This record gives sequence, C-alpha cells and structure tokens, in this order.
Amino acid sequence: MSSGVIDNIGTLLTNDPTVGEGPLGLIHNAALVFADSAVVWVGPRSQLPEGTAGERFDAAGRALIPGFVDSHAHLVFAGDRGPEFAARMSGQAYTAGGIRTTVAATRAASVDDLDVNMARLVAEALRSGTTTIECKSGYGLTVEDERRSLEVAARHTDEVTYLGAHVVAPEYAGRPDDYVDLVCTSMLDACAPHARWIDVFCERGAFDADQARAVLRAGAEHGLGARVHANQLGPGPGVQIAVEFDAASADHVSHIDAADLAALSGGNTVATLLPAAEFSTRAPYPDARRLLDAGVTVALAADCNPGTAYTTNIPFCIALAVREMGMTPDEAVWSATMGGARALRRHDVGRLGVGARADAQLLNAPSHVHFSYRPGVPLLSAVWRQGVRVV
Ligand SMILES: [Zn+2]
Repeated sequence: MSSGVIDNIGTLLTNDPTVGEGPLGLIHNAALVFADSAVVWVGPRSQLPEGTAGERFDAAGRALIPGFVDSHAHLVFAGDRGPEFAARMSGQAYTAGGIRTTVAATRAASVDDLDVNMARLVAEALRSGTTTIECKSGYGLTVEDERRSLEVAARHTDEVTYLGAHVVAPEYAGRPDDYVDLVCTSMLDACAPHARWIDVFCERGAFDADQARAVLRAGAEHGLGARVHANQLGPGPGVQIAVEFDAASADHVSHIDAADLAALSGGNTVATLLPAAEFSTRAPYPDARRLLDAGVTVALAADCNPGTAYTTNIPFCIALAVREMGMTPDEAVWSATMGGARALRRHDVGRLGVGARADAQLLNAPSHVHFSYRPGVPLLSAVWRQGVRVV
C-alpha cells in the first residue's frame, strides 16, 4: 500500500485521450495522485485537489510517462552466445537452429542459476523503465526442463508463456510430429498450471501451419491464451494462424503480404514488432508504417534472448522504430506502453489514467520525444511500480 503525489510534471503522458491532448493524452504542468498502488487523479496541477495524502515528489518540470510494457522476452536461460553474434556480424546467416546451443546450457544449469539470471535481467529492464515484462520458456524442451523454466519465470512476472514449441527438441530430430505430440500432451499438462499463455515459433526450420494449429488448440483446451512467433525470417502462415486463433499478439511480423495485412487489420491480434532482433541479425526491419496505416495495433517489445536480441532496453527499440521502421516518436512510445498492454490484453498497465496501476517513469527530459531524439542516452530519473519508488 502506498499513496502520494507526483507534482510539477512538465508533460504527463497518460495514454488516455479523454483526459489530455491527442492520442497520448498529454497534460502539461500536471500532477498525478496515487493511492493503494493505483492512479486516483491526474490533471493540471492548478486543479490538484486540496489535502491529498502521502509523499510529495517534485518532478521539476520533467516528463512522466507510463512504465514500459515489454510483451516479448525469453529470460529463462543459461549460457552466452557472444561468439555466435560475432560470427554473424562477420557474415554468417541466422537460422532457428542456434536456439539449441542455449537449450544445452539451460538444461545443464541449476534452478538457482536460472533464477539469478532472470532476476538480473528483470532488474536490468526495470532500470530502463520496464515495469511489466512477459517471459517465455522454450530453452528446456523436455517436460521437466520446460516446467522448471516456467516456475522460475512465474517468480518474477505474472505474464508467463509456455513455449515448448520453440524448436524441435534435439532428441526428436527428424520426428517433429512426435515432438509436437509431447508439447500438446504431457509437457502441456506439466506446464499449463504455471502459464497464462501458449506460444509457437511458426517458421521454416521450426513448426509448420498444422503443427502450430495443434499447439494453439491444445493450449486453448488448457485455458492458455495464444501468442505466435510469426513471419520473422520469411513469409509464412504464422500471422494468419495468429488471427485465426484470436491470438493476443503475432510477434516479429517482419515478412508479410497483403493477405496478412488484411487479416491483422480485421482481427483483434496485435502486431508486436521486435526491432532489436533485426538489429542483431542484420536483417531488414519490418515496415511499421504499413501496419499503422492499415489500422493494425502495433506493440514494440525488446525480445530479450541470448541469441538474436540480447537487450532489455526499450528506449533502444523506440529509437530503432523511429529511425528504421517509419514510426513517429509518439507512435513508438505508445506502442512500447499501451501497445504492449494490448498485446498482453491488460487494461491496468501501459497508461496513467485513473484506475491504472501507478507504474510510472520520470525522464531527465521535457518529453518522451527524447527517446529517439537523444538515442543511447540514459534518460531515466525515477521509476515507481504500483506506487512504490523502485529506481
Ligand atoms: Zn521470441
């Protein structure tokens, strides 16, 4: 329980168009009041209600925005793939098979080692403004290794995703359907109690359309919501399967055609773009402008993983989105906050309107535009999570 006032905010970004200007709901010379971990009042400071209780924090004219909602991360793993990255930057191509390197290291690690590594990454994300982070399994690929991965994830976040269908486990090489059967039966039984979501890597080299459908269908029968790794490395059926299953999100979406675009704009599935993956694999960036102009809801996430995007830094992703993917600075910040919340079907985070969680970050800058205007510069001054100052 906590309560207080953040006062003298130069620009408050609420993501609530009913209380401020534009789609970001901007309020200038603002104040925000929170009580019992939730926002209870926002508005111009000249209208701040008398006698608000709790601590008073002076924002000194700087910008306050919602904490980032990072809807795509792989944080339960062991090992280092720096040499693979260096090789790739020397001209080697990325294939989905690199995941197996991390699988071997993760299986060999203790639960404590996995827990310490995840705690380190969640703390790192918090120090760049991320207050909600999703986490997937997918480096265990046995019943027990997937189950313990999800147990570790659930210690650090409520947004836990079962990704047994990341790649075919090495023991099942050449027998993908047998592995899918395992993912959909005993592995799912062991994992479903620890997860909210199920995900599948639908890609050449990973799982095809029929296999992806089997995984999502089995997950739904166990009450797990759908997410899909779709169309990252090339064209494929992933995006349309995501929409078909009313997935909360299709992630990557780097190679799409007109039919994929039409499916996304006609459904409830968010397109989550992960530009750090394109950065780290020297791949072409997705065209966010094309998605936005078609009315698709776009989220931005970091995709932190040891192979293809070893970063938790959302400001870096915002800068890439603006420079390389055709997003405006406003759109990119919306996608990293409200967009992430939509991709997790959450209504309590990603915004700072009344009733939202008091998850906020104070910038050493007059506005959120500075994430892309001043790339690479640490702009974070303070973070509150559920009304508690944590950075
Ligand atoms: Zn991923």
